[in-house]
Amino acid sequence: MRYIGAHVSAAGGVENAVKNAKEINANGFALFTKNQRQWNAKPLNEKSIKKFKELMEEHGFNADSVLPHDSYLINLGHPEIEKREKSLNAFIDEARRVEELGLKYLNFHPGSHLKKISEEECLNLIIESVNSAIKETDSCIFVLETTAGQGSNLGYKFEHLAYIIDGVEDKERIGVCIDTAHIFAAGYDIRSKEAYDKTMQEFDEIIGFKYLKGMHINDSKAKFASRVDRHHSLGKGEIGLDAFKFIMQDKRIDNIPLILETIEPEIWEEEIKLLRSFEI
Ligand SMILES: [Zn+2]
Ligand SMILES: [Zn+2]
Repeated sequence: MRYIGAHVSAAGGVENAVKNAKEINANGFALFTKNQRQWNAKPLNEKSIKKFKELMEEHGFNADSVLPHDSYLINLGHPEIEKREKSLNAFIDEARRVEELGLKYLNFHPGSHLKKISEEECLNLIIESVNSAIKETDSCIFVLETTAGQGSNLGYKFEHLAYIIDGVEDKERIGVCIDTAHIFAAGYDIRSKEAYDKTMQEFDEIIGFKYLKGMHINDSKAKFASRVDRHHSLGKGEIGLDAFKFIMQDKRIDNIPLILETIEPEIWEEEIKLLRSFEI
């Protein structure tokens, strides 16, 4: 079963994300469990948690179909120790929220070296942070997202993610999310069947499909290999529709959330329908 949905709003309470996902006929979704642009958040209240769980059950969602995303402020590879610790504390807090909601995953961007340390030093700091977060939490699986490599963001090469996974002590608690717009902008082509197969073979050899815990399904406004992160609606960008057919027909991609982060929420329902129509 492919869980297809979008990154829906949780404004007014996490329980609203479930309603918003249902409204667009999604069978999976992504959400922020707190305001993604602020460091501090009130703890989730009991009522909200209870309602969230009830609605999940009522509408047929399960933990496998939901991919919570962490705050954009967090940088687990920050070169400065105080800022890295602030990030790590916020990250642990987010993982605990995921666990309180009965969910499984926390999707995050690896981190940025801010041109102050080398890529390798930054990757080592990220590994240290993830290992600490795993020790401080019970069950949350941390899902590294591939990035476009804009600015000093790491994660634009499959090797970066493989290096982090290699350093994580508990491999059951680490996974990967492929963002189609990001890998495309990072230089992994998926526009033709041949290109798609080559990219996915590389993914499998370097990282391994067993680590794939989710995907972000986006077209890209930014050109191939531009290292620029700009999402677009499906079929309207530089990637084109064929790539999304290949994904929907790829037997290796199953039982994970496939999440739209495309730029027109008013057509998410149509985009979900379109993706479903590509399935065989
Ligand atoms: Zn992301
Ligand atoms: Zn993404």
